[in-house]
Amino acid sequence: MLNETIEKLLVYANAHLGLDEEDITYTRNVILELCHADRPFLGEMNISELRGLKVPDQLILELRTKLISENIKSEAEVDNFIIRLMGILTPKPSEVSAKFRQLYKANRSKATDYLYDLQVKNNYIQKTAVEQNIHWVSKFDKNNIEITINLSKPEKDNKDIAKLKEIPVGEKYPACLLCKENVGYAGNSNHPARGNLRIIPLKLDQEQWFLQYSPYVYYDRHCIVFESVHEPMTISHRTVGKLLAFVDQFPHFFIGSNSDLPIVGGSILDHEHFQGGQYEFPLMKAKDLYTVRSRNPLVKVSVLDWYNSTFHLVSANKGALLDAAMKIVEGWKGYENKELDIIPKTGEVMHSTVTPIVRKVGRYYHMYIILRNNRTNEQYPDGIFHAHPKHHAIKKEGIGLIEAMGRFILPARLKRQLHIIQALYDNKLDRAKLLEEQTDLAIFTDLYETLDRLPDGANYDHAITEYVNITCREILEATGVFKTDEMGKAAFKQFAESLKL
Ligand SMILES: [Zn+2]
Repeated sequence: MLNETIEKLLVYANAHLGLDEEDITYTRNVILELCHADRPFLGEMNISELRGLKVPDQLILELRTKLISENIKSEAEVDNFIIRLMGILTPKPSEVSAKFRQLYKANRSKATDYLYDLQVKNNYIQKTAVEQNIHWVSKFDKNNIEITINLSKPEKDNKDIAKLKEIPVGEKYPACLLCKENVGYAGNSNHPARGNLRIIPLKLDQEQWFLQYSPYVYYDRHCIVFESVHEPMTISHRTVGKLLAFVDQFPHFFIGSNSDLPIVGGSILDHEHFQGGQYEFPLMKAKDLYTVRSRNPLVKVSVLDWYNSTFHLVSANKGALLDAAMKIVEGWKGYENKELDIIPKTGEVMHSTVTPIVRKVGRYYHMYIILRNNRTNEQYPDGIFHAHPKHHAIKKEGIGLIEAMGRFILPARLKRQLHIIQALYDNKLDRAKLLEEQTDLAIFTDLYETLDRLPDGANYDHAITEYVNITCREILEATGVFKTDEMGKAAFKQFAESLKL
């Protein structure tokens, strides 16, 4: 019966979510009423098993099955209802942030670990599903690239993302997926339920911001730091300064801003936010290519030996670092080099921006400034410095900071598609016939050409993986505004010198 599951959930919440002993009777009655149950379960339960659970999967599955079989909720309603119940079992936002602050005073990592663990235990982060994502490291001579196929994240279209900036605020509630108003939101067919989400208020340079975890977990402790008000993203002195303010409070986390423009940025441009976490990306392991002459002895500036065009700044002095960073940002926004297709704006529409990332190593701030440009032309209607048409079968979405730092998040469809393509070659099946049945496989023309060139009996599994690896490297290189050939390198150096840092 459902009331037995409810009792199990109360034991679980008491052990794992911090549901206070004193609140159990009250919470039990609230949930019984919501589930149309008139009395609690009084039988025996395996309490030690419930206390030993690492994730709530087994309980959630049981709850879901009973809610449907006992006709409490329909298939369509049940998932949002479960989120609501898990929200009721989780402490209120104020209690979570009080506990976070209390832990923070003793140990910052304990505070960020607490929130992460709470979000796993209350099923906001579905850890078991996340662990099923596919990932591997593709090894190259200088810099490795990490590749993941994310099985839960929907693939987005850049053109839809660009449109987001045009939707008038006030027509939607919550205005976007990042707004603080998502906390406790019931959800509908267009907007996810967020009853079990908890966010932590932060002050960044006297402004109100919040921290939350991403349910998609692209890397360890993947968090989002977002502004209290719903305002479009910007790359400015104010926002770059906030990255530095964040790592002062969370020195064990990196933080970065996706750019403020479509194609080169992330998926949500209409709400100012950063992404952070406890993770060292391939870009952070890259070596310096050369040092740029700097007039300020407090800041070391170099150009990174990396696939795209990245400055690396190191300083223990925040003010000096921010000054140098803004010289680069402003210089880049005004830089033009038609020979290299770099045109910073068309009329009033900006094309050039940067992806800034900050982390702290000891007392030194490390800032990475990746130069970006989102212009399109006839040859590259999706972006000149973006994944090119031949890459779109693998990745078409905007290349945000995570990928620009060398960790690719590829769409879930690839798992199935690449598997079928391998079987097609391994078993020498009829491609034309297959493409008639599975039209979504038609986009892999470039991959078929590559595999067609291989000798009989080739290791197609390996060849497909290698193809994905090289495609990801080529995409990263395509995002580079200064190419790594002699002409590109010379122009980059000249640009760096012209900034008079
Ligand atoms: Zn918003």
